[in-house]
Amino acid sequence: MLLNARIRFHSAVAVTACAVLATGCGGKAQSAAPAGSGRVTVSYAEPRDDGADERPFLRKHRLPERVADDLNRTVRLPEPIRIVSRTCDGDSDYPEYDDEQGRIVLCYDYVDEVRAMFKAARDEDPDGRTAGVITESLYHEAAHALADKLQLPFTGHEEDVADQFAAYRMIPRGAQGRDGLLAAADNYAQSAAGDEDEEDFDPSDEHAPDAVRAANYRCYLYGSRPKEADRLIDGTLLTDERARGCGEEYRALRRGWDKLLAPHAR
Ligand SMILES: [Zn+2]
Repeated sequence: MLLNARIRFHSAVAVTACAVLATGCGGKAQSAAPAGSGRVTVSYAEPRDDGADERPFLRKHRLPERVADDLNRTVRLPEPIRIVSRTCDGDSDYPEYDDEQGRIVLCYDYVDEVRAMFKAARDEDPDGRTAGVITESLYHEAAHALADKLQLPFTGHEEDVADQFAAYRMIPRGAQGRDGLLAAADNYAQSAAGDEDEEDFDPSDEHAPDAVRAANYRCYLYGSRPKEADRLIDGTLLTDERARGCGEEYRALRRGWDKLLAPHAR
């Protein structure tokens, strides 16, 4: 696996001792919605060692809670989906949806890694930008969860559709949502810049390359608000030529997700 690539998984990689329940790791269930079938709930496991700063950060910004609240307001679910924040063991710190457990796992170390990338890039607001990336990551994984629980039918790569879901939920949220999605695009661009070695390109990866994901988010943002051309069309990730079709790309993803969720709307 590439060190800085923001690769997300949508299936369980490994089940650890903490995986049985958040409470098994000292976590206390803290629901953003009443527990029970058909709701999205949030819990935090007790962090170990270097994850100690990340739990208060996530709680302060209510990042998992806000995603859970949005989904609970929007979608009827046949079964619960849990968003579990915890210290992760094993190979990957990247967010994932574990379809066997019906849970989205957010690792404290991942939050720390994202912040470190913004700090290394001398970003003016590493905390705010990190919050944007984490929100996008949670929506991306939520799309995998919805695809699983609702048996959503689509053609094309689920990874691309999951990115589109993040845009679908975040762009209408005003400046905070739009800035958050642009932070995610910038973080993908940072990852792509760190992977310039051609050996890092993996044609078997089901995710689009990071630079493509960054370009897509810029395109959706521009398509939804062309007057932001100055900050979105950079001539590299988003070119004038691509930008001409972005209005339709954005409308198409809205139509697609509207239709996918309509039978399950709350
Ligand atoms: Zn994914």
